[in-house]
Amino acid sequence: MFVDIAKIKITAGDGGNGAVAFRREKYVAAGGPDGGDGGRGGNVVFKVNDNLSTLADFRYKRKYKAPNGAPGQSGHKSGKKGEDLIIEVPRGTIIREQTTGKVMADMSDDDEFIAAKGGRGGWGNSHFKTPTRQTPRFAKPGTPGESWDVSLELKLLADVGLLGFPNVGKSTLISVVSEAKPIIADYHFTTLTPVLGVVSMGEGNSFVMADIPGLIEGASDGVGLGHEFLRHVERCRLLVHIIDAAGSEGRDPIEDFNKINEELVKFNSDMADLPQIVVGNKVDLATDEQLEKLEKYFTERGYQYFTMCAPIAEGTQEIINAVAAKLATLPPIKRYEKEEIPAEFFEKNADGKFTITVQDGIYSVEGEWLLRILQRCDLDDYESLQYFQRVLHSSGIIDALVEKGIQEGDTVEIYDLEFDFVP
Ligand code: GDP
Ligand code: MG
Repeated sequence: MFVDIAKIKITAGDGGNGAVAFRREKYVAAGGPDGGDGGRGGNVVFKVNDNLSTLADFRYKRKYKAPNGAPGQSGHKSGKKGEDLIIEVPRGTIIREQTTGKVMADMSDDDEFIAAKGGRGGWGNSHFKTPTRQTPRFAKPGTPGESWDVSLELKLLADVGLLGFPNVGKSTLISVVSEAKPIIADYHFTTLTPVLGVVSMGEGNSFVMADIPGLIEGASDGVGLGHEFLRHVERCRLLVHIIDAAGSEGRDPIEDFNKINEELVKFNSDMADLPQIVVGNKVDLATDEQLEKLEKYFTERGYQYFTMCAPIAEGTQEIINAVAAKLATLPPIKRYEKEEIPAEFFEKNADGKFTITVQDGIYSVEGEWLLRILQRCDLDDYESLQYFQRVLHSSGIIDALVEKGIQEGDTVEIYDLEFDFVP
């Protein structure tokens, strides 16, 4: 079965806790603190694998968790990092955050995508030695790894999509112009999975053609197979619309052509705007009268119109040449841009509640939502830090600290983030 949609949960590894330890040496009564830092949790990373052509692997395995970082050890030894968990997907997979539907990544190119960041390791106690604090008996816990519910959707990457009712000859065409070998048969819906064929034009010039299952009336309303497969022509740059010129099986090719275009408009009006080249197939079975009528109809409406007898490749080279010429004038295959996930999403569980505890002159702030925001922040990035600072102000945390009596230069600790207070 062809699976091109999946919903999964991904969770990065937690950061390991920092260690509390003291040096033990001969002749040294009380050694200094030497607890190492926790290791970083593993990320969850997506990567394209061109040997995959469906999302079937995700039907039965829905939860993915990267390993945690190991805790720090004595002797300043850092904990081992959690390995990244690599999830392989077919090229063209779009990753979206499930509740907002926002695009996190379009896996069309070879770049890896870190979808969930591993938690940071906590500092060991050796970091906390100060002139007045010779034996810090505390260390920092690691932060939890990020977790996301994501949906995966495969939208094939093809330059050209073949449109047409079942049995008009789509699979036959792709099989004679490319190395693809789809099943060809005179019963409906033989093409149950989309087939991609590379059409070589020589001199390193080629394009990708997609044979998708036949559309039927009502496809855009979810009747029959068509609807699910329409998404595979969404990225196409050009459509080749095949009709049965002979009107076999009592079909009316013009009516068929218009029905399919109505389906396209209903599914996605952008797709209806894609350029189309019309091809009348089965000329061996058609009468001269039928052929003339079709040619007149389509050329009058401004379409490039061709005829062929697909099984013997009659007329197919002309079609391929016209397709290649047209493609040269069209923009590249559509990529989906990464979309900003709205702040409300992060604030959804953000009750805005936080607690402040003061110990040893350190002001420690905690709150579920705050942690989530912190996880998203890259602390080495100036803009990220600025954003985090704005959150501290707007959430009332700064005011609350002042109320607790914090002074300039006192230490503020928010999970693994530590800084000197500046009012
Ligand atoms: P698809 O459903 O659009 O993919 O159609 P297929 O390529 O599977 O073809 C359906 C049937 O029509 C098969 O039995 C083909 O052999 C036959 N067929 C395809 N093209 C032609 C043609 O030009 N002439 C004739 N006589 N039969 C054809
Ligand atoms: Mg077919």
